Amino acid sequence: MRYVVIRDDDTNALTPIDYLERLYRPFLDRGLPVNLATIPNVRTDVTVPGGAREGFLLAKKETDPLCSPIGSNPALVSYLRANPGYEIVHHGFHHEYFEFDSNDRRAVAARLDDGARMLMDAGFPRSETFVAPYDKLSRTSLEEVAKRFRVLSTGWFELRRLPLAWWPRYAWKRARRQPHWRVGRTRLLSHPGCLLSCHRDYGGMVDAIWRNVASRRLTVLVTHWWEYFREGRPDEAFINILHETARRLADARDIRVIPFRELANAGVN
Ligand SMILES: [Zn+2]
Repeated sequence: MRYVVIRDDDTNALTPIDYLERLYRPFLDRGLPVNLATIPNVRTDVTVPGGAREGFLLAKKETDPLCSPIGSNPALVSYLRANPGYEIVHHGFHHEYFEFDSNDRRAVAARLDDGARMLMDAGFPRSETFVAPYDKLSRTSLEEVAKRFRVLSTGWFELRRLPLAWWPRYAWKRARRQPHWRVGRTRLLSHPGCLLSCHRDYGGMVDAIWRNVASRRLTVLVTHWWEYFREGRPDEAFINILHETARRLADARDIRVIPFRELANAGVN
C-alpha cells in the first residue's frame, strides 16, 4: 500500500469559502481527506520579495485589519468544521516572511503557543502537525516544534539547521535515502516540491505526480488554493488537473489518501 497526504497551504481568515469548495468538493465527496495548513492570525500586509502582496491575500479589502485571527471569520470556520474531510493543521502564525527562521526562542515559542490557542479558540481540535511558512525553520524552531507536535511537514532538511542532537539520526536517514524520519515522538516529513503548482508545465503535471507517488511509500502533495484563482478568476485548466488527480487517487486500489493524523496508523516511519 502507498499513502498520499494532500496538503493545501495558506487558508486564513480572508480565504473565500467558494474557492475551497470549488477545489475540494470532488475530494470530499470521494472520501479523500484534505489537510488545510491554516494561518492562525494572518498579517494582511505580507508581501513577497519585490513588494507584491502575497497570493493568499487576494481577497483582502482595504477595510481589513492588520491582523485577522482565523476565528474572526465565523462563516469560514463553520464551513470547515461542517466538513470533517478537512483536517486543519497549524501553519505559521502571521505568515510573515521567514517568521520561523528566527533563533529567538521566546518569540518562536510564543508564536507557536499563541497560534495553537487561536486555532482552538476558533473551535478546531489541537493540531498535532506543524507547517512553517515557506518551509523555513531555524534550529531553535525545529526544537520548539518537536516539543509540541507529532508531525512536521516541510520541504527538506539541511544539516546546518538541525539541532546537534539530531545529527546522528539525520546521517542514518541520509545513508538509507529515506525521505521521512523521526526524532523522539515527532515525524519529520519532507515533500518533493509543489507538484501541483501554476508555475509547472500543465501537460506533464499529473504524470509527474504519479511518478512521485509510485516512487515512495508516503508522498506529501503540496498545493496552494490561491494559485487556482490568480487575479480572482478560476484557472479552469489547473483546476481540471487537480480534479483529475482526485479521480486517479480515488480509483487506485493500492493508494490510500490519509490525513496527517492517521500517519501513525499507516505505519509510515
Ligand atoms: Zn504558506
